[in-house]
Amino acid sequence: MTVRSNICAMAGYVPGEQLNDPDITKLNTNENPYPPSPRVFEAIRTALTPNSLRKYPQPLGDTFRKTAGRVLNVDPDGILIGNGSDDILTILTRTFVPEGGLIASPIPSYILYRSLAEIQGAQFLSVRFSADWRTLDSWAAQANLTFLPNPNSPSGTIVDPETVTRLAKALAPAPLVLDEAYADFTSWSGLELLSSTPNLIITRTLSKSYSLAGIRFGFAIAAPELVRELAKVKDSYNCDVLSLAAATAAVEDQDYFHEVRAKIIATRVRMTQELTELGFDVLPSHANFVWCRRSDRPVKPIYEELKRRKILVRYMNYAAGPLGAPEGAYDGLRISVGTDAEIDTLLSALKAIL
Ligand code: PMP
Repeated sequence: MTVRSNICAMAGYVPGEQLNDPDITKLNTNENPYPPSPRVFEAIRTALTPNSLRKYPQPLGDTFRKTAGRVLNVDPDGILIGNGSDDILTILTRTFVPEGGLIASPIPSYILYRSLAEIQGAQFLSVRFSADWRTLDSWAAQANLTFLPNPNSPSGTIVDPETVTRLAKALAPAPLVLDEAYADFTSWSGLELLSSTPNLIITRTLSKSYSLAGIRFGFAIAAPELVRELAKVKDSYNCDVLSLAAATAAVEDQDYFHEVRAKIIATRVRMTQELTELGFDVLPSHANFVWCRRSDRPVKPIYEELKRRKILVRYMNYAAGPLGAPEGAYDGLRISVGTDAEIDTLLSALKAIL
């Protein structure tokens, strides 16, 4: 059949492994180890009526937008809802990137950006982080769209507001998308730059800090006039009635959010320290995972041995592209922050393996 040639040619984005075994310690896809707020369950039960399922949901998610606007102190009209932030990234690509256009993002970072370029029939250019991960060595001024995850995955590192501002200015009028999937686990967000940086777009997800990966809910925050354009591109009803109710309740419960966030950050500190004591090189993380490597041996056998012991972490290997990744940065383990018990299981397995 006549599948477009660029689709045939692409490898496709492969999400982290999902093994259907209840005994697995799953630390490979940065899910939150704690349940969502109890208010989420209440909201879903309330929303689950014959009439609510029969009718279409709010197309723009106005109730969610009002709540998130209040909590984040942003204009609700500047919020675009998505079926996970992956949906938002697709909408941005379709809005800004013509066939034959150019998408740029740092390497190593979220692999989906390259797939989005391939699906769109666009070119993809990876730009390098500096050796200290705090800035980018260069950028593609001609890119139609630049994605910068901040904090970055898999490194867990962040770039500072001055660098983001400088980059956005250099790319203007083309947009800079600050992918803030993990921003709730760090100390600053690009939200503070939005009013002074018109070509900045922020994307957020409820999959990590709000424990709702199974619900699929993400959103973008940008200038209201841009959100009006993006809304033309999205599916009319891209978020369903139950996910809208769940997302609104989760964002409303800020006390619970802060409690879970604090637990994750405390475990991250402990993991970083104990992995370092075991001889791993661990980058200081600003996310709900840590990125670690070893100078004395390859990490792939460690990943395989952990898997044999039913502990899943993410082994990542970034082949150096035309511009390459920072020296030696493309082979490591990305380990999600789990509960303290899960991290104890991981650490004792690592001690046995090493
Ligand atoms: N951006 C980054 C940097 C991510 O790591 C992820 C999670 N894989 C996403 C976006 C997508 O998150 P969501 O579950 O909201 O689609």
